[in-house]
Amino acid sequence: MPDQEIRCCACARLLFKMQAGALSGALSIKCPRCRAFNHLRPTSPNPERKIAPDPLGAKS
Ligand SMILES: [Zn+2]
Repeated sequence: MPDQEIRCCACARLLFKMQAGALSGALSIKCPRCRAFNHLRPTSPNPERKIAPDPLGAKS
């Protein structure tokens, strides 16, 4: 499985690399170049089904 390159959303600077699936929760990282905050979430859903109740989803 190839490493995933995580780049800044504002200036595209390479922040770090990680294996796909390595991220198990939300992550925030501040770009050292442009100081923009990048918010990351796992790309694939958790194997453990922890589905938080969505109050907005009830109406759909
Ligand atoms: Zn940046």
